[in-house]
Amino acid sequence: MKIIKFGGSSVANPENIQRVFSIIKEKLKEHELAVVFSAFGGVTESLLKIAQLAREGDEAYREVLQTLEEKHLAIVRQLISVQSQSTVMTFVKVRFKELEDLFHGIYLIKENSPRTLDYVASFGERLSAFILAESMQGQGLKTQFLDARDVIRTNDRFGQAKVDFEVTNEAIKNYFAKYDGIKVITGFISSTAKGETTTLGRSGSDYTAAIFAAALDAENLEIWTDVSGVLTSDPKLVYTAFTIPQLSYNEAMELSHFGAKVIFPATMQPAMRKSIPIYIKNTFEPENPGTLINGEVSPGALIKGISSIPNVSIVTVQGAGMLDSTVGTSRVFKALAEAKVNVLLISQASSEHSICLAIKTQESYLAKEAVEKEFFYEIKSGEMDKVILLHDLATVAVVGENMKHNPGASGRMFRALGRNNINVGAIAQGSSELNISAVIPQPDLQKALNALHEAFFLSENKVLHVFLVGVGLIGQALIKMIANQQQKLRGDNELDIQIHGMANSRFMAFHEDGFDLSNPYELSDSDEKTDLNKFIRTMEEMNFSNTVFVDCTASQDVAELYTKILEAKVAIVTPNKKANSGSMDQYRALKKLAKKRGVKFLYETNVAAGLPVINTLQDLMLSGDRVIRIEAVLSGSMNYIFSELEKGDPFSEVVKKAKELGFTEPDPRDDLSGMDVARKILILGREAEQDLEFDSIEIQSMVPEDCQNLGSVPEFFEVLRTHDIDFAEMLKVAEAKGERLRFMATLENGKAKVGLNSLPIAHPFSGLGGSDNMILLTTDRYKDRPMIIRGPGAGADVTAAGVFADVIRIGNYTRE
Ligand code: ADP
Ligand code: ASP
Ligand code: MG
Repeated sequence: MKIIKFGGSSVANPENIQRVFSIIKEKLKEHELAVVFSAFGGVTESLLKIAQLAREGDEAYREVLQTLEEKHLAIVRQLISVQSQSTVMTFVKVRFKELEDLFHGIYLIKENSPRTLDYVASFGERLSAFILAESMQGQGLKTQFLDARDVIRTNDRFGQAKVDFEVTNEAIKNYFAKYDGIKVITGFISSTAKGETTTLGRSGSDYTAAIFAAALDAENLEIWTDVSGVLTSDPKLVYTAFTIPQLSYNEAMELSHFGAKVIFPATMQPAMRKSIPIYIKNTFEPENPGTLINGEVSPGALIKGISSIPNVSIVTVQGAGMLDSTVGTSRVFKALAEAKVNVLLISQASSEHSICLAIKTQESYLAKEAVEKEFFYEIKSGEMDKVILLHDLATVAVVGENMKHNPGASGRMFRALGRNNINVGAIAQGSSELNISAVIPQPDLQKALNALHEAFFLSENKVLHVFLVGVGLIGQALIKMIANQQQKLRGDNELDIQIHGMANSRFMAFHEDGFDLSNPYELSDSDEKTDLNKFIRTMEEMNFSNTVFVDCTASQDVAELYTKILEAKVAIVTPNKKANSGSMDQYRALKKLAKKRGVKFLYETNVAAGLPVINTLQDLMLSGDRVIRIEAVLSGSMNYIFSELEKGDPFSEVVKKAKELGFTEPDPRDDLSGMDVARKILILGREAEQDLEFDSIEIQSMVPEDCQNLGSVPEFFEVLRTHDIDFAEMLKVAEAKGERLRFMATLENGKAKVGLNSLPIAHPFSGLGGSDNMILLTTDRYKDRPMIIRGPGAGADVTAAGVFADVIRIGNYTRE
């Protein structure tokens, strides 16, 4: 004998029901079966909602009831042939007449006791199982409808009744001995010795099936639902969750106790007593093996799954009266037990004379009332404080028997939460070491589950969630690179980079699942105007674990948001120099903040595009070296101009050519002024651990004075022409000495200078042509011959490549 149970979603509509019938027919070829059904999908919820409306005196209840009746009648019409419909139609109509009277009563007396609600809810399963038994009969199966209230005996704890197994087992066995046919059984419902209707708790049909399986010593129990077994986490919250092939009874119990709704916690007890294996199967994918729950603990992964309970409150009981914690604690629990409050988690610090309990929010008020009543006199005398309630929380729990005697699980759990900026309100670990649970802010729940899921199950595949501001040349090159490398990174580097937000100066757009980078997204297609604050807010609200903000703009406004971004524990990668070239205080504050929040702030491309300058300097400093001198050609445009000048063309012509080739800013004065180079040497100096302010840098501008205030670029070129002769003269003087003119930056003895130098031909910079950059680092270790870094120091592609490398670095850093 096998017991097989179908949940509400499996029987939500005639189409699904036909699937269920095929599964049953297939099984019947090999096994004797008894089938347990839940109410049709959503029906229990509707019945309880109607009861609430009626109690509130809201006449709308009648309409909802009507719709519910229509839903049942429609199912009958579709499943049962017209000739055989009448018995079932009558059954359904009589039940709805009873419901009508019942709700009218509730409407009149405005009362909804747990007893009444159990009776109301019982109609769902009574209707579904009867209709389905009759439909199966119509399809040639011999069925026997069983209202479980006739056999499952419970106490009168309405809403969560406890089973009297002695009476129940006997009654089930007798019933099965007496009647033939496939028993079609109502899930969820039961009755007291006095014949009052009770229920086993919401989602209790799983339990009904286990009660039958144990009473009949069934070979196994199958729970058919809308997912392929118990997954590593709720797939509605963690999209990467996957099926757990096998679980021990204890693991399944613990996971469901902490919120894995796929199986009702009590289901495991009767099955465990009789060592009956439970299979969780998917009605919509019957060939999937699903999950097997039995007495074995499979070796391997540290944890089996992660579950969560939303809408939780922390109830804190504190005061000197708790000092004698044994007495205090026992009184708290006595009061809560009497008030029938379920405690999800307890954490106690005897030094604080307090005890902290996690309780479902709806029960927390009852808990407060019960405890304050128990400590009435102590509260009055001030020996105890009033009970404090803290709402809008959730619990998350990691579960698995392999955590026992195996260190590392709690470290990994709290590191993952901490790294993602999730504050933990209370923690508990059972001495059985089967679970570790924590209370966190409810708005962070999905992020927490995903971070934990990644830390425990996907650590070989790290996901980075990128939000990109600035989709100009560099931004676009970056997107292209990510798109090209996505597959390879996933495979070889186990890193998955997804872009969830993009903005340029006009439009922004977001994508929950990540943009499909194989089809370039046009921001102009978005109808959302760029609002930087809103961009950051949306990024925070999406609340992904491992988020990286990439700033590919040169904007001061974006740089001003870095503090806010780092505060939110989001890493930053940027070629934008604005933040690091502000005041020394600001530079220090950002670094400190990133460290404090445990996230990276990477800006290798602030200087010399993708050349490894900043990382190299940082490594030198960390390993104890000291910078004596930095000499650098840091402007590709200036290097191009002065190396071209040697060919004999006039200065203004060379500058014009550089501009035409795209080697300069739109207004070449931005390059010629030396300001950009000054910012770069400022940052290098700071990386070399020197206190430098921008104002202290000696800058020799290459923009002649009379050109500085001219409005348009053509005007500037006009006037610049009059200075060609001066530049030619400078060049001549240098050449006469066998020297070359190079625009460079130096830093020595805490003093930074930017300007044109005449260098001996043997100097490494003299041979530097084109738009290359070169940096010479003279340090304690590299004293005799400086370290030289040379290569293209500008351009969208090399800059984007540097930004990309920083993003990947963050992926590697967040990996454990
Ligand atoms: P049924 O109607 O079949 O009883 P339920 O809605 O009670 O189905 O349970 C199935 C649902 O449980 C799934 O759709 C899923 O959203 C939720 N769920 C929560 N945690 C888990 C988990 N760890 N594994 C699988 N499903 C889960
Ligand atoms: N129909 C009941 C409920 O929705 C029982 C069940 O589905 O298991 O809670
Ligand atoms: Mg269920």
